[in-house]
Amino acid sequence: MPHTETEQLLIGASMDDYPLTLTSIVERAERFHSDREVVSLRPSGTITRTALGACAGRARRLAGALAALGVREGDRVATLMWNQSEHLELYFAVPAMGAVIHTLNPRLFSDELAFIVDDAQDTVIVVDESLLEVFDAFRAGHDFAHVIVVTHTGDVPAGLLDYETLIADGEPMQWPALDERQAAAMCYTSGTTGRPKGVTYSHRALVLHSLVAALPDQLAVSARDTILPVVPMFHANAWGLPYAAALAGASLVLPGPRLDPHSVLGLLADERVTMTAGVPTVWMGMLAALDAEPDRWDLSTLDRLVVGGAAVPRSMLEGFDRHGLTVVQAWGMTETAPLGTVCRLPGSLDESEADEQYRYRTRQGVATPFFDIRARDDDGRLIAWDDAAMGELEVRGPWVAARYHRGKGTDSFTADGWFKTGDVVRIDGRGCIRICDRSKDLVKSGGEWISSVDLENHLMSHPAVAQAAVIAVPDDRWGERPLAVVALRAGAETTPDQLREHLGQEFAKWQLPDRIEFVTAIPCTATGKFKKTALRNQFTSA
Ligand code: ADP
Repeated sequence: MPHTETEQLLIGASMDDYPLTLTSIVERAERFHSDREVVSLRPSGTITRTALGACAGRARRLAGALAALGVREGDRVATLMWNQSEHLELYFAVPAMGAVIHTLNPRLFSDELAFIVDDAQDTVIVVDESLLEVFDAFRAGHDFAHVIVVTHTGDVPAGLLDYETLIADGEPMQWPALDERQAAAMCYTSGTTGRPKGVTYSHRALVLHSLVAALPDQLAVSARDTILPVVPMFHANAWGLPYAAALAGASLVLPGPRLDPHSVLGLLADERVTMTAGVPTVWMGMLAALDAEPDRWDLSTLDRLVVGGAAVPRSMLEGFDRHGLTVVQAWGMTETAPLGTVCRLPGSLDESEADEQYRYRTRQGVATPFFDIRARDDDGRLIAWDDAAMGELEVRGPWVAARYHRGKGTDSFTADGWFKTGDVVRIDGRGCIRICDRSKDLVKSGGEWISSVDLENHLMSHPAVAQAAVIAVPDDRWGERPLAVVALRAGAETTPDQLREHLGQEFAKWQLPDRIEFVTAIPCTATGKFKKTALRNQFTSA
């Protein structure tokens, strides 16, 4: 290491220590991509059009207004919103002013939301008017300094601030100089047990993530793209697509809450979308609609569908191939901002049999640049990349969490600083991963998590139940559904419907197990845990 000034001059690098902040991305959108369209399908079904430049300009006024309300660097500004242009403005304004945008998932339970806003210590919240009811159900749990509402009807409930008035009156902000390691955004993950945990992304992480996402062999985002993120902006930054679009100058089509197949297919066709992204469940519905009416929508501009968040079944790849549409599978997590691996058919398989190509494309893919992977077996040994050994995937990189908010969940990190994903994989000689199992006790249904442990605990609180284990079983429509295996107490009697009714007091309908199987005893491991691998083997095929 060079020490003295002379040594620095002789050996040290001569480059500018330019900070990698989202401000550069926002300014680029404003200056170079100002005319690129941002289209929003409103909850009412009407379409409004604006552009990246206008959103970036309004973001300056919004930031000015937020500063006038008292928002300071490092403060958390929560959003309870769909994919809409105003949400993009918040994506621009909040980090560029040095504050932290905290996107809330409106599908969570109100007690979870109450916990999350309190844990994050959100100071201000911006709510879409269509989500005011969701907000009302958890607002008592936390004291917000200000509540801002985005309305399309013009009705602003008493006591709330109007988003449009704030922008109209806001003094445009000259963006402050920021440190690239400063917090820019935060999201919460579903905990296996216990409460959700916060992940705070730095500017540097999101800038590098956007750059890498835009690479041709990753998500390939360019100024010629029109991107429709079906994946919500409250799910891990809509997989980074809003920032990647602003960086590259791609147009955005934001579908709001109208995610039924006909609305999305209509938008894809009418707006001549080139790239779209979402979880498999959404595309299952889309495929069925396309199969029913193959000529109804002109999707000739649509170049790729990025599908991730859950495993992509071969039938989906084949189904879209029949319509000339390419599905690209990606894997990621909230803790990885989220892009980790992308599955693109390597050139060496171009001439291979269809069967071999599909076998490859159902894998989760190869790590993106700057994303290190390894996997460890039950005995703690790193596995060989031979596509036979299985182990839990561990990752690290500039957009991988090094810790959770408030230092929670330290057991998710190894002593040498890698993040333990809870996904069990095989890795082939090319470094392409295949997820085979999950060590975390969660079921992912339609892109949303259901905690198996919570279901088990509530089942075991029923007087007739001695033991209950919940596993994820593959499902054509939802990706996975929970299945409960129950052992009753000696002499006790109950029915699946009664147990579902019992669970219904605590869980939403979509979270209830469709199948409840009775057994005399649940197999256990040496340490007394339920042997879920055995249950999966027994019940997944049936
Ligand atoms: P997101 O909000 O992006 O869905 P989460 O953190 O909620 O992120 O979920 C991440 C988990 O989802 C992964 O650990 C993995 O279990 C699952 N997952 C994500 N992508 C895939 C995929 N392509 N195939 C299989 N499972 C996936």
